[in-house]
Amino acid sequence: MPELPEVETVRRSLAPLVGREVVAVEVISADVVRGTSPQVFRERLVGRRVSALDRQGKYLLIRLQPAETVLVHLRMTGRLCLVEGNSPVGRHTHLRITLSPGGELRYDDQRRFGGFWLLGAGALPQGFSTLGPDALLAPLPPGRLRAALARRTGPIKAALLDQRLMAGVGNIYADEALFRAALHPGRPANSLRPTEVRRLLAALGETLREAVENHGTTIADFLDGRGEPGLNAQALRVYGRSGLPCEGCGAVIQKIRVAGRGTHVCPVCQHLAEARERG
Ligand SMILES: [Zn+2]
Repeated sequence: MPELPEVETVRRSLAPLVGREVVAVEVISADVVRGTSPQVFRERLVGRRVSALDRQGKYLLIRLQPAETVLVHLRMTGRLCLVEGNSPVGRHTHLRITLSPGGELRYDDQRRFGGFWLLGAGALPQGFSTLGPDALLAPLPPGRLRAALARRTGPIKAALLDQRLMAGVGNIYADEALFRAALHPGRPANSLRPTEVRRLLAALGETLREAVENHGTTIADFLDGRGEPGLNAQALRVYGRSGLPCEGCGAVIQKIRVAGRGTHVCPVCQHLAEARERG
């Protein structure tokens, strides 16, 4: 599932959209337009010009002039691509937005969990209104994160995945940041010492920035807005590496279950007992 670095990669790769005008909208699968009818969606887009592309967590926001915003969430297999208008339409193409001068924004989604919403028209996706600050653009100050974690008895990994606390982190980058911070994902969130909270924030920032520089992680099917895969998979240190040696200590990376999610951990570098040792 695309996480913050992948959505940021899509956002950057779609920069050529800015300045183009929407001349036609073809909704092939009505269910990808959420919270409003395809007809209203079409009417509100046609004639407007793309003025900017923003991102909050895993949401992409397409800003239009006069004032309108299209919210996109790619969920599992959603893909936004800027193509030449005459390129063949795929089996999983659900939406086509024709642009002037030239080009077409296409939405493909094999599993069809993703969707489009109009900000200010109809219902918004569940969880959007409670979305926390973006983990890359507005990282929490250590004191604020510490205070939030102090109220949580669940595993630290669950806190990182909670989009209300900070937006954008998913399974890959939670595992990677915790490894980089040498913290076990199963540590109770409220057991982290102030130095560990600072280490975690630094590790998370480094992990996300590196992944953005590498154009995101492509494991199964992620492609950016030009149809290019990301290069970050080779930079991953624990995610998807169970059974392989840890680059830090040589121990075998394990896959365990934390917060209901498959979780990759080095049993030596990320020691669970650390919480008890502090007394
Ligand atoms: Zn290790």
